[in-house]
Amino acid sequence: MGYDIERFVGYVNEGLLCSICRDVLEDPLQAPCEHAFCTACIHGWLVHHSNCPEDRQVIDVSLLRPLYRYMKNDLNRLQLHCRNREYGCEMVCSLESIDRHERECEYSQIPCSNADAVLPCSPCSGCTVQIERRNLDGHLAVCEYRSRECPNGCGFTILSAEDTQHNCVAELRTELELLRSEMICRVEEAKHEMESRLDSQRRHMVQKESILQNEIEELKSQMSRMMSDVRSLMAAERQHRQELEQAELEKRELMELLKGLQKDCRLTTTEGSRKSNFRPLTRLESVKRKPSWKRESKEREQVWCDCSFSPKAEMWPHQLVPPASLPV
Ligand SMILES: [Zn+2]
Ligand SMILES: [Zn+2]
Ligand SMILES: [Zn+2]
Ligand SMILES: [Zn+2]
Ligand SMILES: [Zn+2]
Repeated sequence: MGYDIERFVGYVNEGLLCSICRDVLEDPLQAPCEHAFCTACIHGWLVHHSNCPEDRQVIDVSLLRPLYRYMKNDLNRLQLHCRNREYGCEMVCSLESIDRHERECEYSQIPCSNADAVLPCSPCSGCTVQIERRNLDGHLAVCEYRSRECPNGCGFTILSAEDTQHNCVAELRTELELLRSEMICRVEEAKHEMESRLDSQRRHMVQKESILQNEIEELKSQMSRMMSDVRSLMAAERQHRQELEQAELEKRELMELLKGLQKDCRLTTTEGSRKSNFRPLTRLESVKRKPSWKRESKEREQVWCDCSFSPKAEMWPHQLVPPASLPV
């Protein structure tokens, strides 16, 4: 919609009027037929029509162009009154600068700055006063939605409307209660979380303990098996040692015998007589009779005979060689 022609000072050229609203062009566009319209007016017109309202020539939104520069200059130079003239503004300025003035005009009606302020007792409304810009400061000084910091130092901002009800101690107590309940909530949450974590750890530890217990049992049984093995090995070793000692004894006895026999043989050789009753054989027989002589033992399979032959145990008795061949 255009500017009301009544607001203009002096003559306004017919060509600067909108063909639709008949007011002075606001934000103008020009059709190919050179008729000019306010942007809002022609867009509204073309929703239901497709031709120029002046001469019926066909037009389309895509064919609309900005106004000729000379016409635009003429338009901008027109002088008009502020729209707040009825409230007392006497400003007259060019069309080019009227918008800037009206945005800052002291006679403009604006909402109170406390329109968003909310009282605890009436949560949905702020200050609804509409006031001229020039009177705003005066209103704010008495606006019931104005706020200020508590002069007693409790730190709360108090709205003017609740000024008389404000009680620092009560406010602080309420705040404290809120904080305390919030803290209790948090502590409870933390406690629950800790408990659930502990539970899961406890379960884990119990499982681990039973596994370890099983391993300990297994190790114990292995150890007892090893101990019995060791015991039997030790017993075997003891027996071995005894047998070894026994064998040593027998060996010594045999060596003694052997020495005796050799002595006998030497005696016989020096006498030079070859008698039929062969003495060493008698000795050998005495050896055979000895209970310590165990021929069946494999460990003592080689022994010296008086005849200097060392036969295997199972070869006893063997063909004796005459003692003359024994080493002297
Ligand atoms: Zn218009
Ligand atoms: Zn036209
Ligand atoms: Zn004004
Ligand atoms: Zn107010
Ligand atoms: Zn206070």
